[in-house]
Amino acid sequence: MAEFDNPYVDQDPFVRAHFDCLDCGGKLWEYAIQGQMVCEECRGVFPSEQVFDASVERTAD
Ligand SMILES: [Zn+2]
Repeated sequence: MAEFDNPYVDQDPFVRAHFDCLDCGGKLWEYAIQGQMVCEECRGVFPSEQVFDASVERTAD
């Protein structure tokens, strides 16, 4: 039987992200395994890429 190294085995799958919800401004939590972020206020789910893009646009403004 082959060994399989799970890179997430020692990590909490939820990582607090340094981004605000695109809808309500609540805190987003990154679900690292699926590359998604979940808002703790409105439970909205956003792809991490979408949040990064929005953050970059906001910073460049
Ligand atoms: Zn929200």
